[in-house]
Amino acid sequence: MTLSVYCLGRDFKETNMAKPKLKEHIINREWCKGCGICVHFCPKKVLELDDTDKAVAARPQDCICCKLCELRCPDLAIEVIVEPR
Ligand code: SF4
Ligand code: SF4
Repeated sequence: MTLSVYCLGRDFKETNMAKPKLKEHIINREWCKGCGICVHFCPKKVLELDDTDKAVAARPQDCICCKLCELRCPDLAIEVIVEPR
C-alpha cells in the first residue's frame, strides 16, 4: 500500500516514493550576488561561496535535493536539477 505524502519534509522511508537523485546544480554566476542565503539554509552544507563570492556546489554528493537553496535565493540564481524517474 502506498501512503500519500503531503509535505516535503516527510521521511521517504514511510512511503514507496524513491528518493530524488541529484543531476546537477545550475548556478547562474551572472545573477548570483554572493548573499550567502543558499549557503546558510542548505541543511547538508553542500554550498559555499568561492573566492569571487559566487555560490558553488562544493559537496554535491551530500545534496538531498530539498531545493531549499533554489526556493530561498532572492535572485533565482540557483536551480536544482534531479534525475527523471
Ligand atoms: S542565495 Fe542566490 S544570490 Fe545568494 S549566494 Fe546563493 S545563489 Fe547567490
Ligand atoms: S537542494 Fe537542499 S541539500 Fe541540495 S544544495 Fe540545495 S539546500 Fe542543499
